[in-house]
Amino acid sequence: MKRKRVVILGATGSIGESAAKVARDIPDRMEIVGIAANSNAQKLAAQANELRPGAVCLVDEAKLDELRRNLNYQPQIFAGERGLCEIASAVEADMVLIAIVGTAGLRPALAAIEAGRHLAVASKEILVMAGEIVMREARARDIPVLPVDSEHNAIFQCLDGRASEVRRIILTASGGPFRQTPAGVFSTITVEEALKHPTWNMGPKITVDSATLFNKGLEMIEAHWLFGVGMARVEVVIHPQSIVHSMVEFSDGSVLAQLSHSNMCFPIQYAVTWPERVPNSLPPLDFAKLSKLEFATPRYDDFPALNLARRAGEIGGTLPAVLNAANEIAVSAFLEKRMSFPRIWQTVAQVMDRHRSVAQPDLDAILAADQWAREEARRVIAA
Ligand code: NDP
Repeated sequence: MKRKRVVILGATGSIGESAAKVARDIPDRMEIVGIAANSNAQKLAAQANELRPGAVCLVDEAKLDELRRNLNYQPQIFAGERGLCEIASAVEADMVLIAIVGTAGLRPALAAIEAGRHLAVASKEILVMAGEIVMREARARDIPVLPVDSEHNAIFQCLDGRASEVRRIILTASGGPFRQTPAGVFSTITVEEALKHPTWNMGPKITVDSATLFNKGLEMIEAHWLFGVGMARVEVVIHPQSIVHSMVEFSDGSVLAQLSHSNMCFPIQYAVTWPERVPNSLPPLDFAKLSKLEFATPRYDDFPALNLARRAGEIGGTLPAVLNAANEIAVSAFLEKRMSFPRIWQTVAQVMDRHRSVAQPDLDAILAADQWAREEARRVIAA
C-alpha cells in the first residue's frame, strides 16, 4: 500500500498532535501534506517546521505575520475560513482528517468530499449537526468516511462492512470524573474538577462533554449517521476502565468488541491505514495486568444529556444541530466560570424545548438552526 498523504485540520489540538505522533511512528504509511489551526500561530509554525507539510492554513488572519515569522521554510499558506476549505480540497492529498473542535469543520469536510478526498472524522459535532448530509454526499461520490472517535472506530472495526446484520450498537462510556459523585453536589463542581478526566487526555471541550455525558449523547447520534442504525438500537454502557472501546451485537446474539489502551493513536492509525493493519510502537494490552473490566447502566436521571441526545436523534431534523450548538455555548460559559455545571444541560434542554424542528433540512436550514440555538443559549445563560 502506498503512503497516505494526509491534511490535518485542527493540527495543533489534542487529536492533531496524536495524528503527528502516528505519522512519526509509521512514516512509510503516512505523510502529512497540510496542517491547519485556528489562531495558535506559534504552535502551527513549530509543527510545520518539524513535519514540513507543503501547505499550512491559519484561520485567524491577524496572526499570519506571526506564522510567517516563525516558519523556517516556505510552504503554501492559506488563511481564513475559506482557507480551510481550500487546503481541504486544493492540496494534493489522499485523506483529510477533520480534528477541529466544534462545527467549523463542516464546510471543509464537504469541500474535501467534493474534491474526492477520503475523510477521517474526529469532529463528532459535524456528524451530529449534519450527519445525513455528510454521509449522503460521501456515498454519492463513493468516498469512505472513516471514524476516528475511538468508540466509532471500534464499531467500524467490529462491523467490517456488515451493518445490515446488527442488532445493537453498544457504546462504552468511562462515566467521566463524576461517575460516582452524588447529584446533590453537582452545582459545586469546579472547572478544574471537570477537566480532570480519569482515563483520557483530551482538549477542554470534549473533556467537559465527557463529564456531563453529552460526549456520549453526541456519539449516539454520530453512530446513528455513520452506520445507518436507528437510534433505538444505539445503547450506552458505563465502562470505567476505557479498555473496551465499543461493541456490536449481531443478529445471532454474538457480540464483537474492540480493545486497546486508551490512546487516540490506535484509532487514528487504523483510519489512515484502513483496510490494512500495520505494526507500530504502541503498547500491547497485558491481560494479566488488567485487574478488571466493569460494566454498568448509566445514571440517566442524574446525567440528562443522554436522554436529551436520544430525543434529538429520534426527532431528527434540525434538533441535533440545536442540541450541539446550545451545548457548545453552554460549555464555553462553564469553562469561563460564568455558570454552574448542571446549567450546561439545563441550558441545552431549555433551548431544545423552544425549537421547532425542521424536517429533512438542507445545509442552510441546519446552519440557521445552529445560529439560532447559539443566540438562544446565550439569552438563556444571560437571563
Ligand atoms: P482541542 O481543543 O485540543 O483542539 C482543537 C483544534 O481545533 C486546534 O487545532 C484548534 O486550533 C482548532 N480549531 C478550533 N476552532 C477552530 C476553527 N474555528 N477553525 C479552525 N480550527 C479550529 O480539541 P481535541 O483535539 O480534543 O478535539 C478535536 C475534535 O476531535 C473534537 O470534535 C472532539 O470532540 C474530537 N475528539 C477528540 C478526542 C480526543 O482524544 N481529544 C477523542 C475523540 C474525538 P488552535 O490551536 O489554533 O485553537
